Amino acid sequence: PESSPPTAKATVSQYACQRRTTTENKNQIFTDAFEVLAESYEFNEIEGPCLAFRRAASVLKSLPSEVDCMGATQDLPCLGEHTKAVMEELLQCGHSFEVEKILSDERYQTLKLFTSVFGVGPKTAEKWYRRGLRSFSDILAEPSIHLNRMQESGFLHYGDISRSVSKAEARALGNVIDEVARAITPDAILALTGGFRRGKEFGHDVDFIVTTPEPGREKTLLSNIMDELKEQGILLYSDYQPSTFDISKLPSHRFEAMDHFAKCFLILRLEGSQVEGGLNSAEGDSRGWRAVRVDLVSPPMDRYAFALLGWTGSRQFERDLRRFARLERRMLLDNHALYDKTKKEFLAAATEKDIFAHLGLEYIEPWQRNA
Ligand code: ATP
Ligand code: MN
Ligand code: MN
Repeated sequence: PESSPPTAKATVSQYACQRRTTTENKNQIFTDAFEVLAESYEFNEIEGPCLAFRRAASVLKSLPSEVDCMGATQDLPCLGEHTKAVMEELLQCGHSFEVEKILSDERYQTLKLFTSVFGVGPKTAEKWYRRGLRSFSDILAEPSIHLNRMQESGFLHYGDISRSVSKAEARALGNVIDEVARAITPDAILALTGGFRRGKEFGHDVDFIVTTPEPGREKTLLSNIMDELKEQGILLYSDYQPSTFDISKLPSHRFEAMDHFAKCFLILRLEGSQVEGGLNSAEGDSRGWRAVRVDLVSPPMDRYAFALLGWTGSRQFERDLRRFARLERRMLLDNHALYDKTKKEFLAAATEKDIFAHLGLEYIEPWQRNA
């Protein structure tokens, strides 16, 4: 139809970057089930259905109200036959047979447990499972298993880093890093990104962009910051990846490819954290600190907007921004740049709004990107 009648409901876009998705999810019954299914496919390396369930979950998360009958799904994009069958079951009996079966499956349970350790991905978890290992004590007691440095810290700080990080803790860490960065260079710029920038109350880590307007200085800033954190005795683990950024390269086609900015994945010791009264205090543990996962990335200032947009997430939002750019605009977008394939030129941006404008998209606020 050329123009929709005034009473027609606004259609929901298939692209997350054309939807507004707050942290308030009215359809968690469905999206939790879809996430179990997606994860199970991921463990079995079946990519298509895995992505399909994540897309479907993302669509339902954007809805202003709960889906209470199958009729309400009629005009929604990205819901296939399998997805709808699961929804129907959930609506009828409150649970899905398929999801229950996965949740009680030993392989799923074990892979879920193993991948909950920092540094352990599906490949490693699978390898351990095939060797007959089923618990952390199995792994730690097996002499032939060599843990890398990341996994060692993952086990060492397991209790702390599997506990979610609060907004207050994220803020406290921001103050620590801000102070360290400014002592190194007074013009340092620090921005909270990731889930906390999207307004989430809790996160699995804290993500920051830290850079400086001084060209080239961002290449060494992170290692200076890490040295100082070490000096202060709060650096519990660090994995530093120096910049491999090349301004002439076209944006990457592959979504999962990491960006090329200098970055580090850390575990920091956060002092004065609310361990008291927390889960650890059962045996009178009154230690006044906790370990927290922190990611820092340091883009050059002229790429700040791209890095901020790329690191704010959510992953599904990022995926769809890139897919939209490629399929609807013949443009390539990644964390470094936006390239117009028709004009054969890079499009510069000083702010996230500039990038949305280049893409011909309405601006979506960070707190509306919880796709
Ligand atoms: P949570 O609260 O669980 O931490 P989150 O949305 O902050 O949720 P993260 O895994 O911390 O999730 O990722 C934040 C953002 O950073 C995502 O948009 C992701 O695409 C991006 N990101 C994470 N790791 C990398 C990386 N190595 N290279 C490029 N981008 C990354
Ligand atoms: Mn995060
Ligand atoms: Mn992160």
